[in-house]
Amino acid sequence: MTVKLTIIGSGPGGYVAAIRAAQKGMQVTVLEDSEVGGACLNRGCIPTKTLIASAEALERTRHAADFGIEVTGEVTYNLAKIRERKDKVVSTQIKGIRGLFKSWGVALIEGRGSLLSPDVVRAVQKDGITMDVKSDKVIIATGSRPAAIPGIPFDGERIISSDDAVRLMKIPKRLLIIGAGVIGSEFAFIYRALGAEVTLVELLPRALSTEDEEMSEIIEREFKKSKIKLMTDVKVERVEKTGDMVVTSLSGGKQITTEMVLVSIGRSINSDNLGLEMIGVDRGRRGELIVNEKMETTVPGIYAIGDVTGKFMLAHVASRQGLTAVENILGNEEKMDYTVVPSGIFTMPEVGSVGLREKQAVEQGIKYRVGRFPYRALGKAHAMGEITGLVKVIVDGATDKVLGMHVCGAHATDMV
Ligand code: FAD
Repeated sequence: MTVKLTIIGSGPGGYVAAIRAAQKGMQVTVLEDSEVGGACLNRGCIPTKTLIASAEALERTRHAADFGIEVTGEVTYNLAKIRERKDKVVSTQIKGIRGLFKSWGVALIEGRGSLLSPDVVRAVQKDGITMDVKSDKVIIATGSRPAAIPGIPFDGERIISSDDAVRLMKIPKRLLIIGAGVIGSEFAFIYRALGAEVTLVELLPRALSTEDEEMSEIIEREFKKSKIKLMTDVKVERVEKTGDMVVTSLSGGKQITTEMVLVSIGRSINSDNLGLEMIGVDRGRRGELIVNEKMETTVPGIYAIGDVTGKFMLAHVASRQGLTAVENILGNEEKMDYTVVPSGIFTMPEVGSVGLREKQAVEQGIKYRVGRFPYRALGKAHAMGEITGLVKVIVDGATDKVLGMHVCGAHATDMV
């Protein structure tokens, strides 16, 4: 009997699961209330990486003389063309996913989905018409959205989220970024390269606090070199719009006035209005769907994958969870293993990491050794003009097994 699978959400979790399930012979329906590809393709990974490519091209051209290249006249950029390029990259990928759905026979319903019962998903289509889809199995892959500071809503123009920042409608003279995590740090380099004076404020003692401390140190030095001002250990007390400006009040009494504030303090989970309470799918404190290693929720036949599970909010983790859910639906026991999840941060330079941070090795009482190799000791780094950076490997003191690898520098994410 053909398994009928319905997937709510078509981000890197949902669309990868859909294609694999269709390849394995299931009858697959995907519901998407925005655009295929989810946050990653439309508002996240791909647009930011496209903008970073433009920012890097600009920086390289500015420093062309270092390579013996003479650029006559001032190096400038065209914001509309950068935006156009980004939109083209995104739309090509959207066409690719839509094409794959078509060739594998995945039915796409463009509308909002919710569960009426464990085996019926209701779709409210964009034209208001509803459709009930009978399903043997359901995968919830509804992702996440930018978190706002309580009481300080986004207005899309002056108090913006990453969704607005990728649209790149204008480059403010001065930009304040609240949160020096992955997203805030990537945008700091993009907007700085495009000419904004950028200040980053961070509640914790360092930028990129989830990374190994030595990687944060390098990026903090690069902020300084790029004239990006970083303030750590500060809390934002208030953000107020006055005239054309935004005044942000910080703990300690300092105020910062900028044309724009980008709030990048984390992600909120998309698990409301899905009918979950009614059918008994349990959620955690942040609204994340509780799943086991097989990606099963607390209701048999209903799976959840990606950001909505609140684990590692990374595109490739969402995809891997999607494949795991499909294998389990097929009856092949497969479990998620999060011990070796690589991550890439596309700052300038990049940070790539996998496995244990040194601090975690200390906390876990592991006897370890550290190997370090600075980029400036490498001939190729000099040839490329990219001598900033460090490769750090953490190995088990007794067995030499690699426990963690951290790279900050050119091509760091590729290497990891
Ligand atoms: P999403 O991509 O969020 O997709 C969920 C989809 O479900 C959305 O299209 C949404 O509209 C739809 N949906 C929600 N509710 C419903 C409903 N009720 N009915 C129908 N459809 C619904 N990760 C990386 O690995 N590398 C990176 O470089 C990277 N860069 C990032 C940069 C930024 C600025 C951001 C914001 C994120 C970045 N991420 C990156 C994270 C990555 O985008 C997410 O981890 C990934 O998109 C999660 O995939 P998902 O399938 O769980 O959900």
